[in-house]
Amino acid sequence: MSTRKPFVGGNWKMNLNAAAATALAQSLVDRIPATDKLDLFISPPFPYLAHVGKIIADSPIQLAAQDFCRQADGAFTGEVSLAMLADCGVSVVLAGHSERRHVIGEADTLINEKLLAALEANMHVVLCVGEKLQQRQLQQTDAINCSQVGYGLAGVTAKQMERVTVAYEPVWAIGTGKTSTPQDAQEAHEAIRAFLCFGVCDEPVGRDVRIMYGGSVKPDNAADLIAQGDVDGFLVGGASLEADDFIAITEAAVTS
Ligand code: PEP
Repeated sequence: MSTRKPFVGGNWKMNLNAAAATALAQSLVDRIPATDKLDLFISPPFPYLAHVGKIIADSPIQLAAQDFCRQADGAFTGEVSLAMLADCGVSVVLAGHSERRHVIGEADTLINEKLLAALEANMHVVLCVGEKLQQRQLQQTDAINCSQVGYGLAGVTAKQMERVTVAYEPVWAIGTGKTSTPQDAQEAHEAIRAFLCFGVCDEPVGRDVRIMYGGSVKPDNAADLIAQGDVDGFLVGGASLEADDFIAITEAAVTS
């Protein structure tokens, strides 16, 4: 089990409606006790951020955004700036989620520019990385992860690394019901950790970076995953849409 404080996030993606988002946020606030043993966030769709932000304002749950624009303001139709997100109470942002890389088409250079802008705006950034199935079959998992970590974190200072979390999310495991085995997750996390310590920043800084696992995390596989030494929490998609499941995962993250 990791010695770093567990970090668990719920990525609601483009799901729910206003009533369901309200009910889910309220249920989490009512049922998740204040604790210093865990850091926690939820990331609702943009239209619900401000409202959900008010519901969770006095709770241990932080508000996260699934995406953001790297530019501060101006003629960027459809985009949302970091300052606007901060106005809604957002303190955590995702960068490089596999759906943004592989569905929307964001490249490493853009992800890096966005990440640097978010750190400059005082956000905590969760940099998501992970290999596709074919890359795993070709034994390229560590090379892909380290490449995405290296590009994503280029130019980040040691001080800023305190506000960076990496999420290892094998693409083939996201939303598929297929989960990495705990051993495979640990091996991937270990390789990312070694690269952080010896390829990105100084070893003590890299040792403190939390690496979340994401990819079909459920209440019944969370305990085995978190038992691994370099699995420091979870980024949860589907299971974060059900209060019972998300709460069970947060409990597994602290009690295993
Ligand atoms: C995710 O959205 O980052 C994710 C891991 O989704 P799921 O838990 O549904 O696989």
